[in-house]
Amino acid sequence: MYESHGPREECGVVGIWAPGAAVSRMAYVGLHALQHRGQESAGIAVTDGSQLSLHKRLGLVSSVFDEETLIRLEGHDEAGRPPMGAIGHTRYSTTGSNTLPNVQPVYARSDIGELMLGHNGNLTNASWLRDELTEQGIEFGSASDTEVLARLIAHAPGRTWAQRVDHAFHRAIGAFTFTMLTETALVAARDPIGFRPLALGRLPGGGWAVASESAALDAMGARFVRDVAAGEVLTIDDDGVRSHTSTRATPEREKLCSFEFVYLARPDSVIDGRLLYEARLEMGRRLAREHPADADLVIAVPDSAIPAAIGYAEEAGLPYREGLIKSRYVGRTFIQPAQRSRDEAVRMKFNPLPELLSGKRVVVVDDSIVRGTTTGPIVQMLRRAGAAEIHVRIHSPQMRHPCYMGVDTGRREELIAATHSLEGIRAAIGADTLGYLSKEAMLEAIGGRTDARCSACFDGVYPTDVPLELDKLGLEGR
Ligand code: SF4
Repeated sequence: MYESHGPREECGVVGIWAPGAAVSRMAYVGLHALQHRGQESAGIAVTDGSQLSLHKRLGLVSSVFDEETLIRLEGHDEAGRPPMGAIGHTRYSTTGSNTLPNVQPVYARSDIGELMLGHNGNLTNASWLRDELTEQGIEFGSASDTEVLARLIAHAPGRTWAQRVDHAFHRAIGAFTFTMLTETALVAARDPIGFRPLALGRLPGGGWAVASESAALDAMGARFVRDVAAGEVLTIDDDGVRSHTSTRATPEREKLCSFEFVYLARPDSVIDGRLLYEARLEMGRRLAREHPADADLVIAVPDSAIPAAIGYAEEAGLPYREGLIKSRYVGRTFIQPAQRSRDEAVRMKFNPLPELLSGKRVVVVDDSIVRGTTTGPIVQMLRRAGAAEIHVRIHSPQMRHPCYMGVDTGRREELIAATHSLEGIRAAIGADTLGYLSKEAMLEAIGGRTDARCSACFDGVYPTDVPLELDKLGLEGR
């Protein structure tokens, strides 16, 4: 999923503790399965029990690592000690620009050992924490909020890593699911609000794995055990898995990102007991009930909206067809996004099938409209392919508010639903009709505790303190 037409995903993390196993290779496979969560850079850190090693670069997972790099990471110890654990990270920059010092995992040294940390989310009080740590004489080497989190943990009071992480839970505000590697342990945690998911799995040889999504556990050959809870800190080492739940975590505070279910996570992942493919099918069914259309067929904007389009078609009693074919290779071009017209960008990504669309009244299902700059060209493309009517249906509510919790939605004034009425959006994208799924229907389709979901980008009710306006480069040049 390169050059997403929706909001940019945040990051993906994995962690493995499996002494003697090919941990860096497993981390690579896990990161590959999480490539959709960040395509700007990737990194893997490994420990052999006494020493940490790291390889990280800008680029896709497949271009950052090769066979030689993985072998070197595993065989870094001249004494020939086998690797014990690894963490991996794939990144899209939500705070800090896309430069090598900001690539994760990041390193920090403390009085109880060294650590590497990979983070999924966004600290909303990173500037404040950084100023406080700087006043204590702590130096920073990058502009990322992840380094703030790593140094906050490294310099926190406490005899154990779990105690230090818990201290960070009391200071940091925002979203921070992370995996952390020390010389002798893997630490994995979700912030007390639990914005971003994290799953725990068991490896066949007896080791443990954690990943942002269960689909990455599947790819690593691990069996899904359970979700890591909001505010839970897992310490995994040769003595097994120890769980600590922060006093900052309460069931009332928990707010898992509902947009993970709409778009961000893979359809083959299970989060909070719900297969995302099923959740999206159900969103489509409910969308058909809320916004029916007199139409001949239903198509999806691939790939993310396919399950919801199938659900819509099933509920409406209409045929589902693949009216738009998506190029698999659009990410690999020398023509930079800024150099392309919107029409060219859409043509490079999608190709319509006039044979299916000509003269037809078409329902087009998509997951979201953010700026509206992609939906309009898609509608025009379908008209040129001969569609007689185009009824756009969105399987999430209108996105009127920016996310400050690790998803790059852009600023409020860039969101088309923040500045246009429903009719204004319809006219701007050139559709015959337009309908969005209600928030209530989206939450019911997600299932589980509807009060334990964040839907701030739809309703503006933020579960945590947020800055007046997000500044992605807010820590640059400090
Ligand atoms: S604001 Fe939206 S994208 Fe951000 S965490 Fe909440 S639901 Fe997810």
